[in-house]
Amino acid sequence: MKYRRKNGSDTWHFCTNCSKWPTSDYVERDSKPTTGELDNECQAKENNGTCSKKQ
Ligand SMILES: [Zn+2]
Repeated sequence: MKYRRKNGSDTWHFCTNCSKWPTSDYVERDSKPTTGELDNECQAKENNGTCSKKQ
C-alpha cells in the first residue's frame, strides 16, 4: 500500500480518493511512514470503509 505526502508537508495520505491525494510534487513510499502524521480525511475514509488504496 502506498503512502504519499506533498513535498514540504509532513501529512501522509493513503487513500487515492482523498480530496488532497497528491498527484504532483510528492514523495511516495510503500510502507507505513515513521515520521510525520496521517491525514485525518484518509483516516476517516479508512474508518467508514470508503478508502481506495494504491497497492
Ligand atoms: Zn488524505
